Amino acid sequence: MTADCIFCKIAAGEVGADVLFEDDDILAFRDVRPVAPTHVLVIPRKHITSLAQADPEDQALLGKLLLGVRRVADELGLVEAGYRTIINTGRGAGQTVFHLHVHVMSGRAWTWP
Ligand code: 5GP
Ligand code: ZN
Repeated sequence: MTADCIFCKIAAGEVGADVLFEDDDILAFRDVRPVAPTHVLVIPRKHITSLAQADPEDQALLGKLLLGVRRVADELGLVEAGYRTIINTGRGAGQTVFHLHVHVMSGRAWTWP
């Protein structure tokens, strides 16, 4: 837990969120400012500032994070329509909350890149 981190506070239950599921390692909750009809964030409970700070010891946790994305997609029925998964790393890439999170977004058209 990092004292001034909003996602640590959500993970600790100190700040409310629309939580879809949680376990000992990860949780999934709806983004407060969705940019798609479905917009969910999957985070580790452990405070990792961004992917740039993930360590080899986080290998299993990072796997759980991606399986958490899969669970979101399965439980919300996103697989057929497809979904976009984004990890912004660093301010230059648009990261605004410095606790690792995976965006899971679906229900609209996307452009690439
Ligand atoms: P980033 O820009 O860091 O990749 O994404 C951060 C995301 O967190 C944004 O989409 C933003 O809307 C979301 N967010 C920021 N603060 C909160 C909050 O307090 N609750 C929830 N549910 N989402 C938040
Ligand atoms: Zn945190």
